[in-house]
Amino acid sequence: MKIVMLGAPGAGKGTQAKKIASNFGIPHISTGDLFRVNIKNETALGKKAKVYIDQGFLVPDDLVLELIEERLGMADCKEGYVLDGFPRTIPQSKALDHTLNNKNDKLEYTIEVDVPDEVIIDRMAGRRACLSCGRTYHLETLRPKAEGICDFCGSFLILRDDDKPETVMKRLEVYHKQTQPLIDYYRERGILHTVDGTGEIEMIYQEIINILV
Ligand code: AMP
Repeated sequence: MKIVMLGAPGAGKGTQAKKIASNFGIPHISTGDLFRVNIKNETALGKKAKVYIDQGFLVPDDLVLELIEERLGMADCKEGYVLDGFPRTIPQSKALDHTLNNKNDKLEYTIEVDVPDEVIIDRMAGRRACLSCGRTYHLETLRPKAEGICDFCGSFLILRDDDKPETVMKRLEVYHKQTQPLIDYYRERGILHTVDGTGEIEMIYQEIINILV
């Protein structure tokens, strides 16, 4: 099962992607997480990507494709995956199609998690992320068991630079300009499904499961 999650930054697509991946036993692949690991490990790719990420811009397509193609070639991707944060531009989605076509394969579902901008701005201000394992929490709606500490790995939680309000506004602008055209692209191919992302996490998840089974 090959699934792409679409939606603005902070729409909750990562949370849903993790649940889908664990339900179907397929990997959750987040290009944002992969970049953050590279940044933490101070790799050459991480250093280049950080400049764009910290300002709320998209990382150039060639760097993203280098990262994702290596990941999709790994053994655990054979039965499928949930892509979260990729593709984000039309050239990226065409590159993904091309990679899949070469393997006589194709995407089966794209799920758009739809949330208005003003709700997103509120949400991101309360979001806290674990720099070690990438899990995210929320000061009001998804609190860790111990304040400021990741439930899973015990590391400190932080407000990511790219979740700061001024960067969020920039990321939303970038989303509408560069990523939203993908919605029409997938709709025309008949594989787009849209869910309302403003409700409870479990209700949204149920709606997605009804689409996938
Ligand atoms: P995310 O955690 O998915 O919101 O990603 C964080 C940041 O990483 C984004 O704001 C972009 O700067 C960068 N990024 C992640 N995925 C991509 C992608 N597919 N294309 C370009 N930039 C990306």
